[in-house]
Amino acid sequence: MNRRRRVYEGKAKILYEGPEPGTLVQHFKDDATAYNNKKHDRIEGKGVLNNRISEYLFQRLGEIGVPNHFMKRLNMREQLIREVEIIPVEVIVRNVAAGSICKRLGLEEGTALPRSIVEFCYKSDELDDPLVSEEHITAFGWASPQEIDEMTALALRINDFLAGLFFGIGIRLIDFKCEFGRLYENDMLRIVLADEISPDSCRLWDLETQDKLDKDRFRRDMGGLIEAYQEVARRLGILVESNPSERKGPVLVRSK
Ligand code: C5P
Repeated sequence: MNRRRRVYEGKAKILYEGPEPGTLVQHFKDDATAYNNKKHDRIEGKGVLNNRISEYLFQRLGEIGVPNHFMKRLNMREQLIREVEIIPVEVIVRNVAAGSICKRLGLEEGTALPRSIVEFCYKSDELDDPLVSEEHITAFGWASPQEIDEMTALALRINDFLAGLFFGIGIRLIDFKCEFGRLYENDMLRIVLADEISPDSCRLWDLETQDKLDKDRFRRDMGGLIEAYQEVARRLGILVESNPSERKGPVLVRSK
């Protein structure tokens, strides 16, 4: 029985009240959804892999000075995080055309973009997270111009770092989504990275084979989702759960 107070339940995660004020427990479910819940399934083991992969990426990002909500992993499915006020804007960074931008602009999937493109979507399940402009964000008070600048700068740093990290293990970072929150510390307000970064929220393609190692396998009924997420974890050097001392860090995958 889970007696903790549930603060929020999303499609793939639950947030519980944490042990200390200002903390929350983020629980990763096995639920997979796409097209805003029109497609829904449970994929055993997905939550465990996302918890571990997101932990790893948030820790590495923390080490290069990207402030984030992650505190520590508690168990296979849960992590302790700082409670933040989520900004209701999803920030998407794209390096290669895939997914919605292809439909919107008539681009062929796989086309390298002239430069990394940052997009904003309004977080709203009822409206299917519509694409919005900075004008909408400031006019409706979802974030200030300064916060938009900060989120954009952080998202581009995250992109540069993750693109390099994944490239080193033979994976191309096609695009990803991130979310930010406001953290109040001693009367100071900071914008920090929140939510998760995992194969659920990124497009990751094998550099050599172009195989999809992300949630598109579920969206497009390709199968093999768990195997793909495991492959990402394996290359990151974090698949061995039982013996942490054997973790070696990223595994270089040589391309020909
Ligand atoms: O669907 P679209 O092409 O706009 O998605 C861009 C990127 O953002 C993909 O990596 C996708 O997984 C991620 N995304 C997400 N959550 C959403 C929308 C997109 O994680 N609500």
